[in-house]
Amino acid sequence: MSEEVDRTGKDFIRQIIDGDLKSGKVKKIHTRFPPEPNGYLHIGHAKSICLNYGIAKEYGGKFNLRFDDTNPSKEEAEYVESIIEDVRWLGADWEDRLFYASDYFEQLYEWAEQLIKKGKAYVCDLSAEEIREYRGTLTEPGRESPYRNRSVEENLDLFRRMRAGEFPDGAKTLRAKIDMAAPNMNMRDPVMYRILHRKHHRTGNKWCIYPSYDWTHGQSDSIEGITHSLCTLEFEDHRPLYDWFLEQLGIYHPQQIEFARLNISHTVLSKRKLLQLVETGVVSGWDDPRMPTIAGLRRRGYTPEAIWDFCERIGVSKADSLVDIGLLEHCIRDDLNRRALRRMVVLRPLKVIIDNYPDDKVEWLDAVNNPEDESAGTRKIPFSKEVFIERSDFMENPPKKYFRLYPGNEVRLKHAYYITCTDVVKNERGEVVEVHCTYDPESRGGGTPDGRRVRGTLHFVSAKHGVPVEVRLYDTLFTVPDLSNLPEGKDFMDYLNPNSLEVIENALAEPSLSNVKPGEKFQFLRLGYFCVDKDTETLKKPVFNRTVTLKDTWAKIQRKLKKNGG
Ligand code: ATP
Ligand code: MG
Repeated sequence: MSEEVDRTGKDFIRQIIDGDLKSGKVKKIHTRFPPEPNGYLHIGHAKSICLNYGIAKEYGGKFNLRFDDTNPSKEEAEYVESIIEDVRWLGADWEDRLFYASDYFEQLYEWAEQLIKKGKAYVCDLSAEEIREYRGTLTEPGRESPYRNRSVEENLDLFRRMRAGEFPDGAKTLRAKIDMAAPNMNMRDPVMYRILHRKHHRTGNKWCIYPSYDWTHGQSDSIEGITHSLCTLEFEDHRPLYDWFLEQLGIYHPQQIEFARLNISHTVLSKRKLLQLVETGVVSGWDDPRMPTIAGLRRRGYTPEAIWDFCERIGVSKADSLVDIGLLEHCIRDDLNRRALRRMVVLRPLKVIIDNYPDDKVEWLDAVNNPEDESAGTRKIPFSKEVFIERSDFMENPPKKYFRLYPGNEVRLKHAYYITCTDVVKNERGEVVEVHCTYDPESRGGGTPDGRRVRGTLHFVSAKHGVPVEVRLYDTLFTVPDLSNLPEGKDFMDYLNPNSLEVIENALAEPSLSNVKPGEKFQFLRLGYFCVDKDTETLKKPVFNRTVTLKDTWAKIQRKLKKNGG
């Protein structure tokens, strides 16, 4: 899918790396994933993790996990823990290289003094708003701060007093002295330090001045000896600034390469927006199975293998694009098809009474666990006089081409017998509440001696053996595919899908599902892939999340495109 691959099938980043190794510019590849701990990781971050870790592994190099924790007001320990868990779950191994930008605060401070001494940084008394005003616009140059020409001595003294806590929040900043007329706005004397009397999740109250992200990021990569700093396109305009800092300091210079962010249809991938969904209660939390977060996907039933497969298929490029959510679903379906055990569950039960079946008889029939994997073996499922089928599998007056159960029609009950509908019982509202059938004792296991064929095969659950379970069905969180291109005045919250969650509290499952553990995955015949939810433990009954349906819309579209020569 990615556009910029060469004949060896390598993307543009791997081509650059090959070149750097060949020219001797670098010997060993070193990458990192640098999250800011201000939210949970989402599938876009997975793209970055798979890219960075994937490259380190392929080239026999190293991979670091580093928290860019420069902003104490939005960062929390909870986020750090969740990020560590998610990166580990995805299978990216940082070995003993878990770092924090906050570990470098002292070094960064020393370097700031170095720039002051070189006359390349100054303490500025303008407020945040004034700084913005003085900055100019894309078409107009900025104006120099009246504090720009303070002496080195004065700057050093003020900066040290800033650190010592002599000034209130926002009273002063340290700014790089570059060029207020630079066409690149990032070069117009950017802020390096701001005063913030705020406790930091790791450094506590040691600091009351905090380095800006821009002043921290490049130097952190340099300290760690990162050879290729891979980041998303929005940092392209920051690269000249990072280069400037590294050159002024004369320290090791990693190479920054930008790639396009991942966007997925029918969802948002921005921590700010995801936080809004959590805070407004639209979802139950960061790990709500509808969220595109790693924690949400995991709870929904996604596997690390499926996410890796997805990231490999989308590839990397410099061009922004919107990936259809159907591709992600295709990847998990593919993976679960191979590993998920098959089970029978009836979501909306309708009772079927088999009149010619002995009253108290119970048969335990053999059922294969996974037709894709013989080693998964078989299990026994019970059959008796009363069974439940799916309400939608019966119609009293069916339309043409309806091959399921209706009066006079014969169908197969999966793994069991052929049954023929003979009669229905209705309640006072005229709704069918019971279906009467007869069965053919010779059709045990699903075939008959006379080779008679039936068009419909239904799943079922034996009435007296059925286990009540809760099933949660999901749809996309948003009703429109592209949330980055909304009409004026509209907000992503205006496009919430009111039907993104449907809870079925009283579904019935075959007895082998009575004892399941959170995280276990199954295919419910004809209904989709399901994963046991963590609420199973608190609600004291099995709770299943539908991961995906069985209908592969993405594969269907691909087939159609191929046929039409696309
Ligand atoms: P968000 O916009 O979701 O808040 P962010 O870029 O602010 O994301 P960071 O914690 O700074 O989040 O991201 C860590 C790394 O993940 C960065 O290198 C960033 O470029 C990358 N990243 C973030 N979002 C995506 C995405 N949608 N696709 C690919 N990479 C991403
Ligand atoms: Mg960021």
